Amino acid sequence: MSRVVQVEPLTTARALRGPFDYLAPEGAAVGMRLVVPFGRRDVPAVVTALAAGSAHDPVAVRRVVEPSLPAELVTLALWLADEYCTTPARALGLMLPPAGARAKTALWADAVESDDGEAPAARLSDPQRALLGSLPRFTGPDTAALRRLEARGLAALTRRVVRRAPLQVPVGAARARPPLTADQQAAVDRVVAASGGERLLLHGVTGSGKTEVYLRATEEALARGRSVIVLVPEIGLTAQIVARFTLRFGDTVAILHSQLSAGERFDEWERLRRGEARIGVGPRSAVFAPLAGLGLVIVDEEHDASYKQEGDPRYDARGVAQQRAAQADAVLLVGSATPRPESIQAIPRLRLPARVDGQALPPVRIVDMRAAPGILHPDVHTALMDARKAIVLLNRRGWSNFLTCGTCGRAWECPDCDVTLVLHRDRATMACHHCGHRERVPRQCPDCGGVSIARHGTGTERLADDLAATGADVFRLDADVRSGARVLAAFGTAERGILVGTQMVAKGHDFPDVDLGVVVDADSTLRFPDFRAEERTFALVTQLAGRAGRGRAGGRVLVQTMAPDAEALRFAAQHDSDAFLHAELARRRALRYPPFATLVRVACAAPESGAVLATAGAIAAGLREQDAPGVQVLGPASLFRLRGNERAQVVVKAVERHPGITLVRSVVDTIAAAGEHKGVNLSVDVDPQ
Ligand code: ADP
Ligand code: ZN
Repeated sequence: MSRVVQVEPLTTARALRGPFDYLAPEGAAVGMRLVVPFGRRDVPAVVTALAAGSAHDPVAVRRVVEPSLPAELVTLALWLADEYCTTPARALGLMLPPAGARAKTALWADAVESDDGEAPAARLSDPQRALLGSLPRFTGPDTAALRRLEARGLAALTRRVVRRAPLQVPVGAARARPPLTADQQAAVDRVVAASGGERLLLHGVTGSGKTEVYLRATEEALARGRSVIVLVPEIGLTAQIVARFTLRFGDTVAILHSQLSAGERFDEWERLRRGEARIGVGPRSAVFAPLAGLGLVIVDEEHDASYKQEGDPRYDARGVAQQRAAQADAVLLVGSATPRPESIQAIPRLRLPARVDGQALPPVRIVDMRAAPGILHPDVHTALMDARKAIVLLNRRGWSNFLTCGTCGRAWECPDCDVTLVLHRDRATMACHHCGHRERVPRQCPDCGGVSIARHGTGTERLADDLAATGADVFRLDADVRSGARVLAAFGTAERGILVGTQMVAKGHDFPDVDLGVVVDADSTLRFPDFRAEERTFALVTQLAGRAGRGRAGGRVLVQTMAPDAEALRFAAQHDSDAFLHAELARRRALRYPPFATLVRVACAAPESGAVLATAGAIAAGLREQDAPGVQVLGPASLFRLRGNERAQVVVKAVERHPGITLVRSVVDTIAAAGEHKGVNLSVDVDPQ
């Protein structure tokens, strides 16, 4: 019998690392949640291991907290802490049920069969008889009338758990299950035949029926008594796939995402943990769904950047999904029309080369903007006026990018970040897109008093306004629009119209009658100083092309650019993802970028630049001192000021992943412990995006 539990206290301090020993409470098991005395406080904790004894003098825990975590998630958390350079406590924090919520109960009233026939009921008033007729049911806020029925022995009141369901499944909604195409069938067969721990990549053009493959593979896993996790990109606009799973599988689907109320999330989490729901669907954090008997983990749109969590702890849900599947002996199935070079390199591929409807992909024309002055090329403008329904992608929110004073040249910048403020005309504010700072639109320059203020650049708001001025029906979709789902629905039902928006417009939705797609500024992603710029641009153009020409009328795509010869654009225009991936992998191999090396980024931030540079310099020196083989240290390099913090980074490129991560961790921990670097915030990002 184990007398001691080893626990991780859930504190955020990086320096405090468990495990710590306590006396085992009754029924102790890995995953049990506790409150333990720790220093002078009581803190929440999780049991990570059991032991027969301890070298220390363990004390008793304060109390046990329900529900506990599945042991499998504890294993996953300890792995995650290592893999993404965070602490076990922070990793365990990701696995917990939603905080601040508990099961909801309400009074339930059943009718009681009376012994003496109709007699008591006969003495009831009409409203009382109606009430009795409506049982059994949960009581409303007014229980007094029911209490009176109970007093007369006609109703029984009990307290029951009420489920807070995030999605109402439409009763009787069609659960069509189309016969599979030959390609789909081959893919499903391969997934079903896969052995535990195997990984597969479903590479299918947009509209090739990947979702149907996910649904059938899920069906098979359920039939074998296993459970399934389905990861989707950020939920807002991917409700479509959630709806398709819910329609097919009903209540056995639980949905996990941050837009649910805490109560709904708690109930969905509990349904998964108790096995009442066997399919967990949601964005990246759904990878931590407390499911037992996992048989299949699906990652839809695996190229999507939202799988990377940018806050602390930084993790990549795709990496976690792979680990979780391997741990549970489940199959990992990732899918995309534009898979990542990393996945192509590592995972056996299944292909869906054609659209289900037999339509060809729309022709894509590259429009050279080098000689065109305006925001839209005249040809593009004409095409928009002629189109029935068009989708226009411009990856910049707001009205214009920045303002300058026409007299003295002053540019309006964020007081806390080294970036210009973006004009949002419909809210009459200037906003910082990095920290959220807002201020009023200036009428006058505070430096010289000048009143001629120039607006530069065009964002979605201004473009939508320009197009509306031509009489077109314009719909706008970007992060500033409150109800994206409503905008999409309105665009979907409109006879004609133009949908203008950021990259959201290229994601996952399916309108049959879009006959034109436009990328306004393909260079905005291409110019981005990042080794994934080509991959992102290719994906964006390809995904947008996937939205156009789904109907009988066909369609086409126009891509405006200052770099008409860029490879990413040329291959996207030819719908040639194989050629693109081939070229991209060759480039990455030559430059030693992922998947041929692992990148780890260490960011330093503090209000004062001297301290930041000193710390970043010490980290770079510490890393170089180790002189590890196959490790290249880049930097330190300064980053722009953000939220009042000066910043600098050091990037490590390591040919061997785990030695590289371990090296960075040990150097960062040493520097973090040194008093002289105390005021500088350090964060480690493995596989930065
Ligand atoms: P993808 O996810 O690859 O972009 P979808 O799964 O959204 O493609 O499929 C595109 C459309 O084709 C959807 O409306 C879907 O219902 C339909 N579909 C998928 N498979 C079939 C099939 N075998 N027969 C008929 N329609 C299908
Ligand atoms: Zn700012």
